[in-house]
Amino acid sequence: MSYSREQQAAIEAVSRAANLCKQVRVDMIGAEALEKDDRSPVTIADFGAQALVCQLLTEAFPPDTIVAEEDSADLRQPNAKHAAKLKQVTRYVQRFQPHADAQTVCDWIDAGNGQVADRFWTLDPIDGTKGFLRSDQYAIALALIEAGEVKVAALACPALLFKPDEPDSEIGVIFSAVRGAGAAMAVLGSDDFEPIHVTQPTDQARLRFVESVEAAHGDQSLQQAIAQAAGINQPSLRMDSQAKYGAVARGEAALYLRLPSPKSPDYREKIWDHAAGSLVVEEAGGRVTDMHGRRLDFAADYKMNNNRGVIVSNGAMHQAVIEALAAGAST
Ligand code: AMP
Ligand code: MG
Repeated sequence: MSYSREQQAAIEAVSRAANLCKQVRVDMIGAEALEKDDRSPVTIADFGAQALVCQLLTEAFPPDTIVAEEDSADLRQPNAKHAAKLKQVTRYVQRFQPHADAQTVCDWIDAGNGQVADRFWTLDPIDGTKGFLRSDQYAIALALIEAGEVKVAALACPALLFKPDEPDSEIGVIFSAVRGAGAAMAVLGSDDFEPIHVTQPTDQARLRFVESVEAAHGDQSLQQAIAQAAGINQPSLRMDSQAKYGAVARGEAALYLRLPSPKSPDYREKIWDHAAGSLVVEEAGGRVTDMHGRRLDFAADYKMNNNRGVIVSNGAMHQAVIEALAAGAST
């Protein structure tokens, strides 16, 4: 099966959602009225992005299930604050779907409340919400999973430089992959995809690792120690969202470490935080497992109860990382 229809739909869906997110960020982050801890822009963009993606998918593939991060329960609350928020979300969605009303927008959002099935899509409408608010990295991540295997991925990173080494490069990248057909990236909004590959083990300049900006989303001191044990001596590149998967897939870094934070040892990773990114890296020649070397389980539930932590590498250094972790764990 070629999955070309699915891939085209996924690319179109995340590109529209990315445009909505960019518009919200331009309109609202710069607004002086915005309180520092006001999360409204991110929630408006989050809901709007999910509505657009689910609308397109349900139209293109009516029988398919979608497992997405948000639901409209809050927006439907009968009070002035929520009504105002729903109005704003609807206004943004109308820029792309002029006939949408508030009710339709809520229904589109809730089209994403499906359960894990034999074939389903998983969506994170804004991955890296903290990055979005900080004007850093964020992503719109969409993947098609069949029989527990990610088959198609589209990952829009609206704030990422197309050429990371060129500060004048265009901003906004879309990564995409189909299992067995390789991974590619394009400037967000263009159809001009170029193949991407992970780093070669001999590329010393790119022998570095990526980790979250948010210290609470990992174990940064253990991540540092493990990277060093695997031969990486450069400081980490810190990025929000699945943009980190993009960095490994296009050879900007050799490794992405996400080890459980000692502050939240019971946290379980969510499928929408990893499905799209993992296929992009695997199809670029890399490897993705949990910290024990187990494959990520996308078949059981939206929470990855059978995995701990995530290791993403160029492949060549994967075993060394797993071994360093096992040695550390036994001491
Ligand atoms: P990142 O930008 O890579 O730090 O990841 C953002 C994602 O981290 C969010 O989508 C959350 O689902 C997820 N997250 C929230 N809390 C934790 C935690 N304690 N450990 C790991 N990931 C988390
Ligand atoms: Mg997320």
